[in-house]
Amino acid sequence: MNSLLEVKDLQVSFYTYAGEVQAVRDVSFSLGKGETLAIVGESGSGKSVTSKSIMRLLAKSAKIKNGSIRFEGKELASLPEKQMQGIRGKEISMIFQDPMTSLNPTMTIGRQITEVLRKHRNMGRDEAAKRAVELLNQVGIPNPEKRLKQYPHQLSGGMRQRVVIAIALACNPKVIIADEPTTALDVTIQAQILELMNRLQQQMETSIILITHDLGVVAHMASRVAVMYAGKIVETGTVDEIFYEPKHPYTWGLLASMPKLHEKSEELLAIPGTPPDLSDPPKGCPFAARCPYTMEICYEQMPSYTEHSGTHQAACWLQDSRAPKVERPLAGGE
Ligand code: SF4
Ligand code: MG
Repeated sequence: MNSLLEVKDLQVSFYTYAGEVQAVRDVSFSLGKGETLAIVGESGSGKSVTSKSIMRLLAKSAKIKNGSIRFEGKELASLPEKQMQGIRGKEISMIFQDPMTSLNPTMTIGRQITEVLRKHRNMGRDEAAKRAVELLNQVGIPNPEKRLKQYPHQLSGGMRQRVVIAIALACNPKVIIADEPTTALDVTIQAQILELMNRLQQQMETSIILITHDLGVVAHMASRVAVMYAGKIVETGTVDEIFYEPKHPYTWGLLASMPKLHEKSEELLAIPGTPPDLSDPPKGCPFAARCPYTMEICYEQMPSYTEHSGTHQAACWLQDSRAPKVERPLAGGE
């Protein structure tokens, strides 16, 4: 596969009064052209920190300690901020969870879109205005001319997220990073936005990194999945491999806690326990405190990745030839 973005051995830490918090620990993955890679995990697993590292939008207290982020021959991890500004929003753009945080409440929709076009694509006023109408049409916003004169608060949540997508698409970026793009929306709108993103991706051949805690969203959108836990990727595979042949007990837990059709979300089986404290990460497997299959070695040594196919790897001692055979428990209703 021709990879467009290659993250290797990425380590990111936050420096707090309580000490160093190792939010991302040796994360590696690649993103091919036109591909959607989902990064899945609970909150605090390091998935947003990973994506903010790529965009170089980390908080001041955070630092890329080690590793590389290659994008079309450029090393983003150490690129000067000035050059990064030519990539951010133009070559790689980002869609956040809450459209209200990415839109400016004091500026009209039209001005927010045309500003991007004028800044990154050197368009004149009229050309940018024309393109803004096209973009709103593309993301399915009716009456674009009228909408362009409105402010964010005059639009519904779903419409606002469409505007955010239009802005993200404005410069024809090669990569879009979507961090929980539908989490703040209600279920029907969620489905519409996912469908829109799918359609636009096919038309434009953009590559997408989709950050989500929701495996339902993954099934709709992604071709490959990386499962993150406690700052590490514990399993990675194609969507089929992750859904039908998952190897890591944490992935099993995530799948078991996925809502089934017609099931109320209150009935979900959450994985008992909490993730480890990343200011003092365990030396063995990070999932050991919550895993039902723990062996002695799990507390002692971090498992390395076992290859199950050219696309499928998992880091779990159960895959060691000396480990007892364990069957994945089937969730109720499967
Ligand atoms: Fe569970 Fe051990 Fe596998 Fe970690 S390495 S997921 S603790 S069995
Ligand atoms: Mg997050």
